[in-house]
Amino acid sequence: MATAERILTEPVPQEIEKKPWRFDVFAHLPWLKGLVRMRSFQFLVILPNLFLFYLFLIAGFFGTPIGNRNIIIVFVWILWWFVLIAVMMPFGSRLWCTMCPLPFFGDWLQRRSVVGVRSGKSPGTLNKFFGLQKRWPKRLSNIWLQNFGFLFLATFSALLVTRPLVSAIVFGVLILLAAGMALVYRLRTFCNYICPISGFLSLYAMTSTVELRSADKEVCLKCTTKSCIRGSDKGWACPWNVYMGKLDRNNYCGLCFECVKSCPNDNISLYLRPFSTSDVALRGYDEVWKACIMLMLAFSYSIVLLGPWGWLKDWANISEKHNWGGFGMFAAGQALLALVIFPALFYLSIRLGKWYARADDVSTKELFLKYAYMLVPMGLLAWIAFSVPLIMVNGSYIVSVASDPLGWGMNLLGTAEFPWKPLWPQWVPFAQVPILLAGLYFGLRGLHKVGSQLFKDPTQLFRSMIPPAVLLLGVTVLFLKLFIG
Ligand code: SF4
Ligand code: SF4
Ligand code: SF4
Repeated sequence: MATAERILTEPVPQEIEKKPWRFDVFAHLPWLKGLVRMRSFQFLVILPNLFLFYLFLIAGFFGTPIGNRNIIIVFVWILWWFVLIAVMMPFGSRLWCTMCPLPFFGDWLQRRSVVGVRSGKSPGTLNKFFGLQKRWPKRLSNIWLQNFGFLFLATFSALLVTRPLVSAIVFGVLILLAAGMALVYRLRTFCNYICPISGFLSLYAMTSTVELRSADKEVCLKCTTKSCIRGSDKGWACPWNVYMGKLDRNNYCGLCFECVKSCPNDNISLYLRPFSTSDVALRGYDEVWKACIMLMLAFSYSIVLLGPWGWLKDWANISEKHNWGGFGMFAAGQALLALVIFPALFYLSIRLGKWYARADDVSTKELFLKYAYMLVPMGLLAWIAFSVPLIMVNGSYIVSVASDPLGWGMNLLGTAEFPWKPLWPQWVPFAQVPILLAGLYFGLRGLHKVGSQLFKDPTQLFRSMIPPAVLLLGVTVLFLKLFIG
């Protein structure tokens, strides 16, 4: 699989040799290592989510069609989204993938086991898997499908986040697709290349303050079993086809901890690290476009929801207005902004930076790929800033819906009548502004870090950074204008 092939074939970049501060969590909390090594660990963390997921599906199909009274809308699009983007992404990498119920049935069909592990032989692994075990086509082994899938779903977000039935259908389709693909293709092909959530999880996991890595790369070099990627009688082959011996970014590690179970040399640990410092290399245009799409979607949502243009709100709100012509214009404009206009502006800033720095020995492509990292922390923090009012203004729905999940008039916890009460709405901009400015800071710091790897001359470095930094500053100012008016 290309994500793994990227890791297996590329040399270990220099930056991992001089890593900043890291704290070995497993060394200090051996009980945690014991916990993730339990064969039942992942099943036990998925199980509650599996129950919740089925409750959501039942609520979506049979509960009230009023979005803010239905658990699938309130728990998924307010609670889960906020926890995912504001807590799990920055502080837990792909921790959501550890507990995600979507691929559960696919894994089960492939392994014919929920907890146990089966040694044997299947293509590329030392485990016995079931199904056709085909390879995913090489030309699709990237995150372009995830980019387009997410953009498509985001375009219909007004339907998705207000209509319980639409959300239930989308999640139902995703779970069936994940199971169907597991029967045909090897390992977690669905997670690697199709899951629309996976693309932005992989991108923003780069900033996270945790990483799972091999403790000593020399041990991996000498290791003859490579059980982390091939599997053993202790653990399944890495479902993401990641080789721990060369893993240097969080992007494509789904934190399932199978490798921790299977490594015969006890050479894998969980580390804490500073935010947005270690994984700073985007490795393909697919990843750069993901960064552009995510930042521009945050921008587009902010314009629609916070901007003064009522007609734009009406165009985007296909759920209530049914103005398909206007919606088509909105969808085309949003796609153009995310796929063409912003990437073109970024490209222009790179050309200008290269010209101003007289950087003839660095290719435009290299500069374009490397400097795109600045969009990653900026994008994540812009999404967090955008999501703050979601939880502060609409968070009280969580309390009422928890007591009446299907909107049928139940009162399980006695809080069904809890009134809609925004939490300090006047303080929302005071939370958003520092978050956004932190995005600018980490974006510029990332720019400087990747630039320092390319340019030794400080003047050349400074000049190369100016145009992309101005672009980032411009984006920040526009966001600030939308957030604080
Ligand atoms: S990639 Fe998608 S489907 Fe797979 S575990 Fe992560 S969120 Fe779930
Ligand atoms: S099994 Fe362990 S020691 Fe061997 S390559 Fe994988 S992480 Fe390294
Ligand atoms: S097996 Fe290890 S490297 Fe592979 S996804 Fe799971 S935790 Fe990550």
